[in-house]
Amino acid sequence: MSVSHPNRQSLAGWWFFTSQDKILCVPQGQRIPFGQIDDLPVAESWLTQAEYFNDYMGEPCYRLALDEPIDLGLGEWITLYQLVSDLDEALFLLAGQAMQQALFLKTHQFCGQCGQPMARVEWEFAMQCEHCGFRAYPRISPCIIVAIRKENSILLACHKRHVKKDNPIYTAVAGFVETGETLEHCVQREAFEETGIHVDNIRYAGSQPWPFPHSLMMAFLADYQSGEIKVQRSELVDANWFEITNLPQLPKHGTIARKIIDTLVSNISQELKG
Ligand SMILES: [Zn+2]
Repeated sequence: MSVSHPNRQSLAGWWFFTSQDKILCVPQGQRIPFGQIDDLPVAESWLTQAEYFNDYMGEPCYRLALDEPIDLGLGEWITLYQLVSDLDEALFLLAGQAMQQALFLKTHQFCGQCGQPMARVEWEFAMQCEHCGFRAYPRISPCIIVAIRKENSILLACHKRHVKKDNPIYTAVAGFVETGETLEHCVQREAFEETGIHVDNIRYAGSQPWPFPHSLMMAFLADYQSGEIKVQRSELVDANWFEITNLPQLPKHGTIARKIIDTLVSNISQELKG
């Protein structure tokens, strides 16, 4: 696809203003600003930096990355993470795409191979070195997340970053895929490294782009095979089996972590009823 910038004659569109990990949200409607360019506080000089990147509900989506989250008088700047549960799923994905593209363009201005300037490739989303021809694509980091079942209990872990004083969040085991590793190996390795548990019967359960800053979560369900819980203290403060009637604070709705935990809870409760 060729690079396409909006102009004053453009039709209405969705405007994804990003700045670092924040996105500009309006208080009403779908939260993402929508309108004619003339109705929005978009300076003429910005239009060459704004870029069409996708469509939503038949209207074009433009992204515009600002260095600072300046007050545009439209709404407030919110971290994308805070919007996981609030934004329509399609808009969350688009917001993540806008942010990941902006991050890619910002961090690939120079060639990683020879250090010379990179330029946009016109027909696909990539940057290419004008000197040596090295081409770079947006970085996407695959990450597995797995909900593990043992009888009527689920293995949940509390990460150091999720510790809150009174109500810590417990979630499924997760980790980055390493080079030369299949997703199934990664599930087994992460479960064992983080909790000392061996798993089997690994089943794919969906995926979710996780633009913090460029992960792709690939979710699985698995069953306990063997082992005793041994918590990896460098990453976790706790890991334990939780009966579905006695669950701790779980991740937010809208996250794939919550989705796979809810799936196991539902599977177990169906079996108990039957
Ligand atoms: Zn180069």
